Order: sequence, then C-alpha cells, then structure tokens
Amino acid sequence: MAIVHVAIGSNRRHGRFGRPAGVVRAAIAALPGVIAASPIIATAPLGPGTRRYANAVAAITWPGDLRDLLALLQAMEADFGRRRGQRWGDRVLDLDILAAGQVVLRGRRLMVPHPELARRRFVLDPLVAVAPGWRHPLLHATARQLRAALLRPKGLPRT
Ligand code: ATP
Ligand code: CA
Ligand code: CA
Repeated sequence: MAIVHVAIGSNRRHGRFGRPAGVVRAAIAALPGVIAASPIIATAPLGPGTRRYANAVAAITWPGDLRDLLALLQAMEADFGRRRGQRWGDRVLDLDILAAGQVVLRGRRLMVPHPELARRRFVLDPLVAVAPGWRHPLLHATARQLRAALLRPKGLPRT
C-alpha cells in the first residue's frame, strides 16, 4: 500500500463550499484514504491568476496505479466545477500528485515527483507539515531539506 502526497489548491469560490479555504477543506474530506492533512495556508497568485490561493497537502493511501489516481483527481476537479482552460489560471480546485514514496514517473501525462515541487514554497511548507522526512528520489533530499534550500538566500555561501 503506497502513501501518496497530494497537493490541493483553490483560488475561486464554490457555490456550496464558499471561499478557497472552504473548497480545500471539502476536497480533503472527499479524497479517498486520507491519513493526514496539513494546515491550509494562504498564498499569493502564480502566473496570470489574480486571486489568492488556499493550499494544503494531504497524505493518502492508494493501492492502485497512479494513472488511475490522476484520473480520479481530475474527475474530482470537474465535480468541483473546474473548467479546463489556461494553465495556472484561476481555478476552483487543482489536485496534483506530488510524490508516491520513492516512485519516479516521467511520462508526458504524469510526472512523479511533481517537477515543480522543490521550487514552490506553497507546496513545501504544507508537505513539511505532513511528511518532513520524505526523501525526494531524484534530488536525494528530504522535504525539510528542500524547504530549507528554497528559503536560503541565493548567492550566500552555505555555512
Ligand atoms: P503545474 O503542473 O505547474 O502545477 P497546473 O497544475 O496548473 O500546473 P494543470 O492544467 O492542472 O496544470 O495540468 C496539466 C497536466 O499536467 C495534466 O493534464 C496532467 O496530465 C499533467 N500532470 C503531469 N504530472 C502531474 C502530476 N504529478 N499531478 C497532476 N497532473 C500532472
Ligand atoms: Ca498545480
Ligand atoms: Ca494540476
């Protein structure tokens, strides 16, 4: 039974769940096999979006193929009213597979670990809250170490 970490993001209201934080809470409740969830954090918009995001990370157990999990997550996004459109645009719900233990997948439709994981504070902060010791199978650093590296001011010597 693999433990999978899923990133949850929202920057649009939902008719029933309300503000983005309410959407993220509802999405965590709807995910299968949740064993842990981070606090929900507020994040400035990325790319062409204009609204603030709510972000979190959940740890789930997933016994099957990760492509089937991606299909389930995309169906959930659609259920929550997400319209496929501009990448990084405003959206009711975004669910990304961040990592699945030491699994490495580099397919066109599915990359695990998520390729942007180590560059995004809104991913690393909540990931550290649920899995500080998870080790990135390609970068050979733990979630806690990746977060520390991201926060380190560039150009300063690593002392
Ligand atoms: P980003 O991937 O930079 O966070 P995004 O989440 O806004 O951007 P989407 O438009 O939601 O991007 O998804 C684009 C495609 O990314 C999806 O159709 C999916 O096939 C692909 N994809 C690749 N790897 C993953 C992954 N680990 N989790 C979710 N989707 C993935
Ligand atoms: Ca995303
Ligand atoms: Ca996505």
